[in-house]
Amino acid sequence: MNDGLIPRLLEVRARLAQACRQAGRPDDAATLLAVSKTFPAEDVRAAWEAGQRAFGENYVQELQQKSEALADLAVEWHFIGPLQSNKTRIVAERAHWVHSIDRLKIAERLSAQRPADLPPLNVCVQVNVSGEDSKSGCAPAEAASLARAVAALPGLRLRGLMCIPEPTEDSASLASQFALLRQLRDGLQAEGLALDTLSMGMSADLELAVAEGATLVRVGSAIFGHRSYTN
Ligand SMILES: *Cc1c(COP(=O)(O)O)cnc(C)c1O
Repeated sequence: MNDGLIPRLLEVRARLAQACRQAGRPDDAATLLAVSKTFPAEDVRAAWEAGQRAFGENYVQELQQKSEALADLAVEWHFIGPLQSNKTRIVAERAHWVHSIDRLKIAERLSAQRPADLPPLNVCVQVNVSGEDSKSGCAPAEAASLARAVAALPGLRLRGLMCIPEPTEDSASLASQFALLRQLRDGLQAEGLALDTLSMGMSADLELAVAEGATLVRVGSAIFGHRSYTN
């Protein structure tokens, strides 16, 4: 039992609506993705009962276990972590969304492995907006060509772009990283790609991301609490 989970969920919902208003956007302009990584299926069930529908997972094994344990609920599963090519099949079968496409090979495997009786898998191309070497995501200069190639794959539906900015307290730096993602999205839209998603913003910086145009924020610790990585 995760004490305080539901009050925190309600608080984050209020924060998100307030951030949208502050940015001059409709209250529901950004969707809340509840990032449940490292937390048990019972916590996801509790949040579901409070009306949360979209959940994010970083690890393939956790996606597999929780989607099995919660097969009675129509959870919308988002895979948001690094994806190795030998693990794509489970994700292609279980997830509704993948946010972390950063190379064509992974996208091609997901497309080929997406079961024919399911709708195309919704995907975002992840862009390394900070330029840090260690970060996943394609380089900003490669985002457009990767997005075009992904958009052409029959088992996938390209929805937009995702980023994880460099961890910093410097809000001007964060804002400019979020703005870069938005500009890349705008460029692709101008080319005719129908992209409706900017996946950016987490517990600490969702307001900044919403101000820069986020349509989906990925919030973990502010909802589920501190992660210990030991469960
Ligand atoms: C863990 C994680 C989040 C959530 O981060 P919090 O700071 O706990 O809100 C969001 N996006 C990705 C890709 C993550 O791995």
